[in-house]
Amino acid sequence: MAYTLPSYLSRENVGPWETYLEQVERVAPHLDKALVPWIETLRRPKRSLIVDVPIKLDSGEVAHFEGYRVHHNLSRGPGKGGIRFHPEVTLSEVMALAAWMTIKNAVVQVPYGGAKGGIRVDPKRLSLAELERLTRRYTSEINILLGPDRDIPAPDVNTNEQVMAWIMDTYSMNQGRTATGVVTGKPLSLGGSLGRRDATGRGVFVTAREAARRIGLPIEGARIAVQGFGNVGEAAARIFAEHGAKVVALQDESGSLQCDSGIDLAGLRAHCAQAGGFGGFAGAEAIPAEAFWRVPCDFLVPAAVENQITEANAGALRARIVVEGANGPTTPAADLILQERGVMVVPDVVANAGGVTVSYFEWVQDISSFFWSEAEINQRLDRIMAEAFNGIWEVAQARSLTLRTAAFVVGCSRVLEARALRGLYP
Ligand code: NAD
Repeated sequence: MAYTLPSYLSRENVGPWETYLEQVERVAPHLDKALVPWIETLRRPKRSLIVDVPIKLDSGEVAHFEGYRVHHNLSRGPGKGGIRFHPEVTLSEVMALAAWMTIKNAVVQVPYGGAKGGIRVDPKRLSLAELERLTRRYTSEINILLGPDRDIPAPDVNTNEQVMAWIMDTYSMNQGRTATGVVTGKPLSLGGSLGRRDATGRGVFVTAREAARRIGLPIEGARIAVQGFGNVGEAAARIFAEHGAKVVALQDESGSLQCDSGIDLAGLRAHCAQAGGFGGFAGAEAIPAEAFWRVPCDFLVPAAVENQITEANAGALRARIVVEGANGPTTPAADLILQERGVMVVPDVVANAGGVTVSYFEWVQDISSFFWSEAEINQRLDRIMAEAFNGIWEVAQARSLTLRTAAFVVGCSRVLEARALRGLYP
C-alpha cells in the first residue's frame, strides 16, 4: 500500500525529532506483533538532561551556554553517541540524534544504547582556552551520566580528538583515576584507536561499495559529490578517490566546487589549511549552493547536517545512490520523492555506523589494555559494515521495503526484543 505523508510533515523545516518519529511510524506495521506493545519506548527518550554551562571568557566576562545530554534507550547497553558544538543545537535535535544512535548501534550490533549531547555555541567564536573551559565545565555538569559502563561520548560536528582528551581528563580528575574508556575518538597517545579518525568515512565507502555491487555499478571512474569536508566528508571523499572514483563536486559552509575531471583533494586540503575555506581554490569552479545538488553523479554523500535533501531539491538530484554520511540529512518528504524517482538511499543508521563501530573497538582496546593494528581494525570494520548493509538489503528485497525502513525493522526489532526480555521494572 502506498504510504501517505502526514500533513504536518509536508511542510519544510520539519525538525529532526519529527523526522525520527515519522521513521518509527513507517516501521511499525512491519514489526513482529509481539514487539509492537513496546514500541512506545522508542518514541520517548529515557532521560534528557539540560545544563547551564557558565564560563569565564578571556575578557573576564562570564558567558552562559545551554548544554544537553540525552539517553534515548539503554536496553542493549550503556549510552553511546557524540557531542556536537553548534549555534543551532536544540534539545529536540539532540533527542533525534540520540534516537538514531539507538537504532544504529543495534543495526551494527555493538552492545550500546543510544545517547547524544551538545552545546548551543558557535565554537569558532571562542579562543582555544575558552573552548577548553567550556568543554570541561560541560563535562562536569553531565558527569552524573558519564562513565565507561554508563555513557561514553565521542566526536560529532565541531568536536575532535582534543575535545575528547579534555573530556577524558575532566572525568578522570573527578574520579581520581585515569579512565580512558569514558570517551572514544581520543588521540592515540591517550588510548585512542588506530583507524578511528577515518572510520565513519571508511564505513560510508564500504556501504556505498556494497550497494554499488548489488546494482552492478563500478567504483572505478564513478562520479562522487560530497557535502561536508570535515571528519566524515573529507575521509569519505579521500577513500572513494583512493579506489579510483572521481570527486566531482564538494560543498561546505565556505562554498561549493565542481570539477568534472575530479577535484585534487590533497591540494584542496592544503588550500583550506591556509585560506580557511574553499574560497579562492584554483583547482575547481566555484558554483552556487543550489547547483551543487544538480551535479550529475553516481554517489551523493551528504556529510554535513540534517535536513539538506528536502522537497525543494529532491526532485532535481541527479545521483543514482545517496549514501547518508550525516545523520538525518533527508526529510521524510524528500525520502518519498527519491523513492518514487528510483534513487537508492543508503540510510544514516547503517551508512555512517563506521564511527561507532571503531569507537566500540577503541573502548574494547581501552578496557582490555591491548591494542590492535590498523590493518586488523580496518578489516573488522569492513566485515561488520558489509554484513550490516547486506543484512538490510536482504530484508528490503524479501519484504519490498526501502533500505531505510528495512534498517529500522532490523534495528528496532533488536532494541525492542532486548526491552521485552528485560521487562518492566518494578
Ligand atoms: P565536522 O564538523 O567535522 O564537519 C562538518 C562539515 O559540514 C564541515 O565541512 C562544514 O563546513 C560542513 N557544513 C556544516 N553545515 C553546513 C551547511 N549548512 N551546508 C554545507 N556544509 C555544511 O562534522 P562531522 O563529524 O564530519 O559530522 C558531519 C555529519 O556526520 C553530522 O551529521 C554527524 O552527526 C555525522 N556523523 C559524524 C560521525 C563522526 O565520527 N564524526 C559519526 C557518525 C555520523
